[in-house]
Amino acid sequence: MAGRRRAPAGLVAAACLAAAVAGCGGPAGEGAVPSSERTGASTAADRGAPRPPAAPVALPGPALAEEETSSEAVARRAEAVRATLETARRWGLARPPLPAPQPPASRPALRAAQGVKLADGLPPVVYRVPTEERIVFLTVDDGAEKDPEFSRMAGELGIPLSTFVADYLARSDYGYFRGLAAQGDAVNNHTINHRNLKVLGYATQRDEICRQQDQLEGQIGARPRLFRPPYGEYNEDTLRAAGSCGIEAVPMWNEEAFPDRMEYRYDDQRLHPGDIILTHFRGTDLWPGTMPELLRKVVDEVTAQGFALARLDDYL
Ligand SMILES: [Zn+2]
Repeated sequence: MAGRRRAPAGLVAAACLAAAVAGCGGPAGEGAVPSSERTGASTAADRGAPRPPAAPVALPGPALAEEETSSEAVARRAEAVRATLETARRWGLARPPLPAPQPPASRPALRAAQGVKLADGLPPVVYRVPTEERIVFLTVDDGAEKDPEFSRMAGELGIPLSTFVADYLARSDYGYFRGLAAQGDAVNNHTINHRNLKVLGYATQRDEICRQQDQLEGQIGARPRLFRPPYGEYNEDTLRAAGSCGIEAVPMWNEEAFPDRMEYRYDDQRLHPGDIILTHFRGTDLWPGTMPELLRKVVDEVTAQGFALARLDDYL
């Protein structure tokens, strides 16, 4: 259940197809349409001369390894592309999400960097995962709204989620979160009662965090490695308490997503490699839109800025 999820093969191929004009796989532009064709310009030399066959669209890492050339495989890939474009269209996306790269074989050791706070013997606090890849991470907090369409949409589109669940909101239906875990999403710790930990003593903080570790281990079947304090409020006692019951990292966020907008921490109002996006399990009683509308907003924004959504738990 904590298994890593890869983007469906069709999603990779469809995104590459969609990106073919820009050269899928990066700026080097292997497989990209030659610039004269992109711009529509032509020279005397290429007019009338037979053109070389178009280079195949370059597929990134995992897809490349699986690339087959038999006509059957080509037909299969074409069908996967068609299905993926159809899935994106059905969920109302502007274009298919970009596929995330294969996660690292082992989680990289965190180094001091912008967005990472390290202290000896305490779990690191992370606002941005150090990475060169154009990936960002979607995290979903609290657990009040348990919308089956939201989990279905994320699953069908291959969008990985890391959730941070407070027991008092989730306990009415932990089955919903077991369903997310079964499709590869992570269910992490957000305390029992969602109190502001900073004003509580060590023992109470430890009870709030560590009892939720036990509860999630029992309900979901895996002990969380990640913890996010409610409201992002914490002190050293919080980190010490979290570390004492198995928490390895404390992810915060740089962006917050709503059904109608994204809010950015930094003035440039853009995503950066490794940024963590926060949103919530919230319904139309509190929000101007549904959770599928929220996910559409996030995916379209992330894709438009040239990023893929990766799974936070594979990197922290
Ligand atoms: Zn919260």
